[in-house]
Amino acid sequence: MSIELEIEKDDLTELVNKLHFGEKVERAKKLLEWSFDKFGDKSVVANSLGKDSMVVWDLAVKVNPDVRGFIVTTKYKPAETITFMNDLVDEYPSLKVFKSDQDIGPLYETDPDKCCQILKVEPVIQAVHEMNVECWITGLRCTEGRTRTDYKEIEKRDHDLIKLNPILLFKEREIWQYLAQYQVKVNPLYAEGYRSLGCSPCTVITTDDNERAGRWLNTSKCGGECGIHTQPLKAVTNVDVDAIKEEDIHPEAVTAGEISESDIEDR
Ligand code: SF4
Repeated sequence: MSIELEIEKDDLTELVNKLHFGEKVERAKKLLEWSFDKFGDKSVVANSLGKDSMVVWDLAVKVNPDVRGFIVTTKYKPAETITFMNDLVDEYPSLKVFKSDQDIGPLYETDPDKCCQILKVEPVIQAVHEMNVECWITGLRCTEGRTRTDYKEIEKRDHDLIKLNPILLFKEREIWQYLAQYQVKVNPLYAEGYRSLGCSPCTVITTDDNERAGRWLNTSKCGGECGIHTQPLKAVTNVDVDAIKEEDIHPEAVTAGEISESDIEDR
């Protein structure tokens, strides 16, 4: 029987509204447990320092206190974000910071795609290689914006690297619910009205319903992506994806939206 890693889009949309907060939290934990069982310390959290990443990081630390993570920062990050990052790294030394030191000037004014490629995508590629990552864990949510409706909880788009999106089903309200309930610290810029945080020149406060509308406003990239979720990050594979499909994931565990304790233990 062919084992399906990905949830069909219709199932995903249904689950976003069908599962309640507590069920989504438990589901995220099960997905994280699976990833740490399978990949060990090669399952690594990408922490963007945003509210969603803070939920994923908190969940990951609860599931695996030894979890490793990486942060990509740029010289254009707001001072508040840098302070928040430094405090977080002090608290969690297992978070490693990556930053490009290329002098590219204000490239964001003329070619933001290239600027993001150099300052964000390339350091993520560096992190994936240097930390020997086989499964990277993100804070993607499918209700976050127009560019995020087509993701799955477990993905193999990058054929040599597994990507886990454990909070894909969370709504924005449920992110804030989690942060409040578990008293997780967030970047103080949210208190000023920002809903999605990035580099200073490319992030504004808006009243738009779209969470990411304040990113790259008035450019063709408006509300879009920096590129880390849309292109391959690893050139040489250490992961046998076919082996994972055949041996490691219980089909119903992923496709039916129910991951039970027995499913995990059986793997
Ligand atoms: S968000 Fe803006 S400043 Fe930051 S890397 Fe992308 S284009 Fe450059």
